[in-house]
Amino acid sequence: MKAIMKSEKIKTITTHYIDGAFVESHGREVMDIIKPTNGQLIGRVMLGDEEDTRRAIAAAKRAFASFGRTTKDERSRYLRQLHVAVSARIDDLTAAMVEEYGGVVQFARVIVESGVAAFPAAEKGLQELPMTQSWGKTTVALEPVGVAGLITAWNANTLFICLKLASAVGAGCTVVLKPSELSSLQTQVMIECVNAAKLPKGVCNIVIGRGDVVGAELVRNPDVDKISFTGSVGVGQGIMRDGAATMKRVTLELGGKSPTILLDDAALDQAIPAALVLAFMNSGQACAAGTRLLVPKSRLDEIKRRIREAMRAYTVGDPADPKTAIGPMVSQKQYERIQSYIRKGIEEGAEVLVGGEGHPKGLEAGYFVKPTVFVNVRNDMTIAQEEIFGPVLSVIAYDSEDEAIRIANDSKYGLHSAVLGTDIQRARRVASQLQAGRVVINNMTDDPQAPWGGFKYSGVGREYGKYGIEAFLEPKAILE
Ligand code: NAD
Repeated sequence: MKAIMKSEKIKTITTHYIDGAFVESHGREVMDIIKPTNGQLIGRVMLGDEEDTRRAIAAAKRAFASFGRTTKDERSRYLRQLHVAVSARIDDLTAAMVEEYGGVVQFARVIVESGVAAFPAAEKGLQELPMTQSWGKTTVALEPVGVAGLITAWNANTLFICLKLASAVGAGCTVVLKPSELSSLQTQVMIECVNAAKLPKGVCNIVIGRGDVVGAELVRNPDVDKISFTGSVGVGQGIMRDGAATMKRVTLELGGKSPTILLDDAALDQAIPAALVLAFMNSGQACAAGTRLLVPKSRLDEIKRRIREAMRAYTVGDPADPKTAIGPMVSQKQYERIQSYIRKGIEEGAEVLVGGEGHPKGLEAGYFVKPTVFVNVRNDMTIAQEEIFGPVLSVIAYDSEDEAIRIANDSKYGLHSAVLGTDIQRARRVASQLQAGRVVINNMTDDPQAPWGGFKYSGVGREYGKYGIEAFLEPKAILE
């Protein structure tokens, strides 16, 4: 890897957003922001510490006293204000995601637009949700849970911020957001959006900092009532364990090893491109990525040939170029992680159909990897069981529909899955037997009202629309 070079235009972030104002960081640790396409230093961020976090929690607690009592209509208005403010910065948020994360521009825009869509989706969900219900002498009211700590991952930071913030505000919670420290440029734009949205002071506080400092304080602090987390299983388990000390409510959006079942009646000219989109979206750095492709043995040779051909379209390179399909990985650490999995796949006897170890030719300066497809994969191999979080696809052959379903469910994860086939009734029947929070049929698609979240190790609870708002509410029964 080329040495990190000094750039002319270094961006510097030294403030957090607390109690409706930009506040200089009390924490003094400085982190470099590195451009993943070439390893250049492009910015520096002053990371918050426990004191910054406690100030933000105190502001959120003060604000909750009145914000927790707002009406549905008032909160709908705040959601609309957020929607207007974030919509105005779509280009800036996309540009920041391309620059600091290396997200390919087309997909980065889709991610940002999905984030923007979270606000009207929450407003619709809020309007549909009955906040009080009565029968006989009983009334049940849904009350906001209190101060929420929102912690996000780096692979779609803007989307996660918008999703969590929209649900929390819709429910009447006040928040302290701790975005991924690897997404500080995107976070800075989001802070400006929140400021422009003119929410009441203290409703949304944002502290940029490390997980084991700012995140840990949120999890530990008795004034935080709920944690909504997107990230890895290991950190999620720690949050559940440590949060128990103060009886935190938790929503955990964790990893995946999602299966795509290609049925034997699938039209391959549509099914193969769809399977590859599922596998390689967001350069493979996607929790929902369909990284296990289950194919009928009877059609294996044809499928291998078609994958090899279709992979020619998966060009790796400058994420700002609209023709690029796969950008760099986010960091050197992530680059090395993916290399180690590709090596492991080869050692365990899988066959490289496309790609392999090392940088693509001419892209040695950045964190670029070769999009890789393995065939001859058994489901008990490491590359079929563990989340790689990069552009690596394992093709697993099956003999029968029942075997395909069994392999699909033979995973500790259960976040997302896909079924590709011509007979829609059959595809639905297969979908109904998959253990996953979401199943898509015949293409990657999204619906901001449909719940998002995982079975098994993929998490606890749901986000999106009214399901996301419910996660920030507590039912209270009054009996006369
Ligand atoms: P990560 O778990 O390393 O970090 C996620 C966030 O947690 C970051 O903000 C980090 O600073 C913070 N954190 C780290 N240690 C902490 C601690 N001790 N206490 C509190 N917070 C702490 O995950 P990542 O590398 O940023 O993201 C990749 C992972 O996220 C993958 O496993 C991926 O599948 C998962 N993910 C899941 C979803 C989903 O919706 N289910 C979406 C995107 C990513």
